[in-house]
Amino acid sequence: MPDRTRGVEEQDYNGVKYWRYSDDVGYILRGTVVLFDSSGQIPIRTVPGFPHINRVYRLRSGVRRFFHTHPFFVEEKLDGYNVRLLIHGGQPLALTRGGFICPFTTEWAEIWWRRYGLDRFFADYPDCVLFSEVLGDNPYNSQRDPAISPGLYFFVFDILGGDGEFLHVRDRYRIVENYELPTVPLLGQFSSDRIEELFEVLRDLNEKEREGVVLKSPTSKRAMKFVTPSTDLRDIKDNLILEFDLEPRFIINRLLRASLFIKEFGLDEAEYASRLGRAFLDGYESLETFESASQTYNIYVQNLKTWNALRHMLSGHVTIKVEHVLPASLNGIEMLNVKFRRVFRKSTRRYREVIRGYGHID
Ligand code: ATP
Repeated sequence: MPDRTRGVEEQDYNGVKYWRYSDDVGYILRGTVVLFDSSGQIPIRTVPGFPHINRVYRLRSGVRRFFHTHPFFVEEKLDGYNVRLLIHGGQPLALTRGGFICPFTTEWAEIWWRRYGLDRFFADYPDCVLFSEVLGDNPYNSQRDPAISPGLYFFVFDILGGDGEFLHVRDRYRIVENYELPTVPLLGQFSSDRIEELFEVLRDLNEKEREGVVLKSPTSKRAMKFVTPSTDLRDIKDNLILEFDLEPRFIINRLLRASLFIKEFGLDEAEYASRLGRAFLDGYESLETFESASQTYNIYVQNLKTWNALRHMLSGHVTIKVEHVLPASLNGIEMLNVKFRRVFRKSTRRYREVIRGYGHID
C-alpha cells in the first residue's frame, strides 16, 4: 500500500490507477510513477522521475570541472515544463515532473500522436519514454516563449530505453531524426579548448533573451546547465510579486547568477546595473494597483472535462480564478480557450497588508 507520509500517493486518471512519488524515497526520485494494469491490482511499469541537472555559475571553470578536455554536446535549454510521454495500455499518457498524469497535456498528446506520427515511434519502441520540454499556451509556466505559435508543442531532450537507461546523446539524435520527432535545438559539439566559441553562443542567446544551455557528455549521464542573465532578470521581474510563496533564495540566487555572468562575459556593467534596477521597479509596479499576487495563463483544451480535471488538479496547490472559457479554432481544431489566474495566497495577503499601511516587524 502506498504511504502518503513516506512520499507515495495513490492516484487515478480515467480509471488508470497509479502511484506517484511526491518526494524522493531512497534512490527513487520524486515524480516517479508506478502504473497499474487495467484491473488496478498489478503494478506493471515504473516510470522514473527526471534527475536534477547540476547548475554551474561560472562557465569556464564549470566546463573544466565537468568535462576536463573531453568533448561535450551543447543543447539549447528551452523554457517550458517537463513532461514524460509514453504509451500505456494502448493510450498516450503525459506525466508531469511531479508525477501526475496531466489531463491537459495528455489531451494534447493525442493531437501530437496524429500530428507527428508518434505511433510509428512507439510501435518500434513501446517501452520507451520521451522526456520532453513542452512550450506554448500552458497552465504551468506563465513565461510563454514568444517564438512559439498558439497551441502546445513538445521538444524531446532525453529518451529512456526499455531497460530503464537513458539513451546516449548520439543515439537520441539518430532516433529523433529517423522518426522526425521535434527536439531541443543542438547548438554544437565543443570542448574546453573551444570555450571562446561557446562564450559566443551564450552571448548570442542572452541577446535573444533565450534561457540558456544544457551541456551533455556523449558517453555518460554527465550534464550541466547554465542560464543567461536575460532569463534571470525576467524571472526577478515576473516573480517579485509572488515573493512570499517562492522558495527562500529564489531572487538572491538569480542575482548571484546574473552578476557572475555579467563579470565572466565582460558585459556592459552600466547597462546591466540599470536593467537590474528596472527589473525590480517594473516587478513591483503592479503594487500601485494591487489586487492579488497572481499569474495569468491562457490555454486551449478540446473538452470541458479536460479543463475541469486540470482545474481540480491545480486547485490542490493554489487558488484558481477563471477569467473566461470561449470557443476557439486552432489549426482547424475546434477547441475551448480558457483564461485563468493562479492566485498565490501568502503573497496576496502580505502585499495587501503592505499597501494598506499595516506595520511589520522585519
Ligand atoms: P533541476 O534539473 O535541478 O530539477 P529545475 O526543476 O529547477 O532543475 P530547470 O532549472 O529549469 O529545472 O532545469 C532543468 C530542466 O530543464 C529539465 O528538467 C527540463 O525540463 C528542462 N530542459 C529544457 N531544455 C533541456 C535540454 N536541452 N536538456 C535537458 N533539459 C532541458
